[in-house]
Amino acid sequence: MQIAQYTKAQSLTEAWELHQKRHSVILGGCCWLRLSPQRMIQHAIDLSALGLDTIEETDGEFRIGAMTSLRSLEVSAALECCTDGALKEALRHIVGVQFRNMATIGGSICGRFGFSDVITLLLALDADVVLYKGGRMKLEAFAATGAGTDVLTHVILSKAGRGTAYASLRLNATDFPIIACAVSGSAEAVRCAIGARPSRAVVLRAVRQDAAAQGPAKMARQWADAVSYGSNMRGSAEYRRDMAEVLCRRLLERVMGADV
Ligand SMILES: Cc1cc2nc3c(=O)[nH]c(=O)nc-3n(C[C@H](O)[C@H](O)[C@H](O)COP(=O)(O)OP(=O)(O)OC[C@H]3O[C@@H](n4cnc5c(N)ncnc54)[C@H](O)[C@@H]3O)c2cc1C
Repeated sequence: MQIAQYTKAQSLTEAWELHQKRHSVILGGCCWLRLSPQRMIQHAIDLSALGLDTIEETDGEFRIGAMTSLRSLEVSAALECCTDGALKEALRHIVGVQFRNMATIGGSICGRFGFSDVITLLLALDADVVLYKGGRMKLEAFAATGAGTDVLTHVILSKAGRGTAYASLRLNATDFPIIACAVSGSAEAVRCAIGARPSRAVVLRAVRQDAAAQGPAKMARQWADAVSYGSNMRGSAEYRRDMAEVLCRRLLERVMGADV
């Protein structure tokens, strides 16, 4: 990876202004950027001096800076507790500890990767993102549009009482997932995200009472059928659909517990 011009931004305003120029690129952990076909970056904008690498906790939510490493999220006891271990489960398969020490939550979301374990889980958790100019919005809406020339500053996770579970299927440890599923359930609703289809994760919803009445097997079949799948070197569309049903059923059983 070659960088023609590099700026360590001293403020978010500076980062945003620089990012309005054509061919400027915001640097996350650079784990993906350095592999991308665009080997020459005209103007790289480094956010590492802006204090965006912290996890702040309030009574109602977690405010996670865009430069927080995946590893910091993985080892956060508060986040582990709040997500019933689902966040740790979603992250622990990603390459290795050294890699997760560098890769950031901001880069993981802005990359909008189809294979993303991170986006799959955060969609099930109904996370919000904060853009410097665009303000706070649902990750679900952001996933469709991307950051454009804006700068992602934070990811917000609500602490709203819910149960959460995550599962993925990989051919080999540390490889990209063939399919990834996350389910999160509150007293009123159940939310499911199916990712690595291999395209980007989609969200499915049900009223909790309806999901309980249908039971995990029927609900999982319905959800798996509602989504489209593709084939690639890791698996066929048919296999992905079948595995999505299995994972969704298991996760629903865990999240809904005594209800079903
Ligand atoms: C070999 C390999 C295997 C991987 N396997 C998996 C896997 O199994 N599961 C999984 O979920 N992920 C996987 N990933 C993705 C990885 O977890 C990260 O999501 C990815 O590396 C991007 O994070 P980064 O911090 O390196 O971002 P970068 O590579 O630095 O940036 C990625 C993109 O986001 C933009 N960007 C970064 N931060 C911001 C910001 N604050 N505002 C606006 N734009 C921004 C950059 O300009 C760039 O376009 C893998 C990546 C690699 C390289």
